[in-house]
Amino acid sequence: MLSCKQMLDLLGEHLDDETAGDVRQRIVEHLGRCRTCTALYDSATKTLRVVTESSSFELPSGLSDRILDAVRAGHGSAPDRD
Ligand SMILES: [Zn+2]
Repeated sequence: MLSCKQMLDLLGEHLDDETAGDVRQRIVEHLGRCRTCTALYDSATKTLRVVTESSSFELPSGLSDRILDAVRAGHGSAPDRD
């Protein structure tokens, strides 16, 4: 299983829809078992949706990373299970 740190590293790619199928599967598996990352994921996807719906242009690259940084900062540090 992915650690929370690995999970957060992959989440940016996942939000940009750049993850390969096997990685996506591992993310979904982690989300199924980790409430911390589920909360982070929910916050990130909601934020991203708001940004997307309020914009008529394409998302600048790296935006999801910045959103994730903001979500992480607002959420405190995720427990590191390495
Ligand atoms: Zn986690």
